[in-house]
Amino acid sequence: MSQQLIRFIRDLYQTSEFIPLHAPTFVGNEKAYVTDTIDSTFVSSVGRYVTEFETHIEAFTGSAKAVATVNGTAALHTALYMAGVRAGDLVITQALTFVATCNALYHMGSRPVFIDVSRQSLGLCPVALANWLDEHAALDNDGRCIHKSSRQSIKAVVPMHTFGHPSELDELMAVCRMWHLVLVEDAAESLGSFYKGKHTGTIGEFGALSFNGNKVITTGGGGMVLCRDQKSGEHAKHVTTTAKVAHPYAFYHDEPGFNYRLPNLNAALGCAQMEVLPRFLSQKRALATHYAGFFAGSELTFVQEPSYGQSNYWLNAIICPDTTTRDVLLEETNQAGVMTRPVWTLMHRLPMYADCLRDELKVSEWLEGHLLNLPSSPVVLE
Ligand SMILES: *Cc1c(COP(=O)(O)O)cnc(C)c1O
Repeated sequence: MSQQLIRFIRDLYQTSEFIPLHAPTFVGNEKAYVTDTIDSTFVSSVGRYVTEFETHIEAFTGSAKAVATVNGTAALHTALYMAGVRAGDLVITQALTFVATCNALYHMGSRPVFIDVSRQSLGLCPVALANWLDEHAALDNDGRCIHKSSRQSIKAVVPMHTFGHPSELDELMAVCRMWHLVLVEDAAESLGSFYKGKHTGTIGEFGALSFNGNKVITTGGGGMVLCRDQKSGEHAKHVTTTAKVAHPYAFYHDEPGFNYRLPNLNAALGCAQMEVLPRFLSQKRALATHYAGFFAGSELTFVQEPSYGQSNYWLNAIICPDTTTRDVLLEETNQAGVMTRPVWTLMHRLPMYADCLRDELKVSEWLEGHLLNLPSSPVVLE
């Protein structure tokens, strides 16, 4: 299988060189816009590209207010802060995620609770979430959700749209409503993914996007907080820009703020990348269709978007029948210069998150041994 797969991927990308998992593509106005920031000297925290980039993202996602940040982790940190997460709180998320999800809440002084993912979406499982809360949580007299044995308050639920596939948001929202929890979407991987016609990251109270170099579009480094409500969006903008009260010359700050503003230089790259995003998305969808065709009828199952939504197919993935098959594929493809990767080491296996609360994580642990990611950069296919 490895040799056929290597040949198939080399054929897709028409190269005999190293094929990465996901590389940035610059085919539009990137150079012109970046040069413009340098010519104008506005490369830093002031400039028109930041607002323009935010407007682009608002138009594309339908978010009431988008706030640009230095990276996706900073966007998540801001989203959690805006959701009211504070030191000592618990936040429920997935063990199957990139470490940034947990780091963002760790830096708030809060701790993660790891709940299993669903086999279908690879995102947080609403049934597992409801079961864990039924067993371990209670609402106190003020309607706050409390972890019964530790008396810590549980503040938010952070599903992650794994590899761009939208999580089961309606069901998750229903559980959150019942338990008075704020839904914050880690949509770092899912720019261009839709849940029942709505853009991921705009359904919960807050969402976070990332524009790191390996994501669907890149600003070098960058992120965006998506806010469902205009007013809290303005507040999010305020806290990410040192909470400075607008004034022609005086410096006055009215709350503890972050310096999380995206530089104009990076935003210029973002504006150019937004212009080509629709093209990237259709190329990635065509690529996924080719992969699906290749694996059809084989013992390897291609991960398809869930029936209720549309995935950006950020990272294509297959499920192998057993771990040995997966490991042989990993070894032989990487050996041949075609990059493939297992899913991230689950969060509860990392030393700093090993003693966090969790459920049995059966599906997550099964996926950990069976999943393989394939090269997914947008490409023009014949
Ligand atoms: C990329 C990513 C982030 C944010 O990453 P940054 O590198 O800080 O932009 C957060 N969560 C997930 C799941 C990611 O894949």
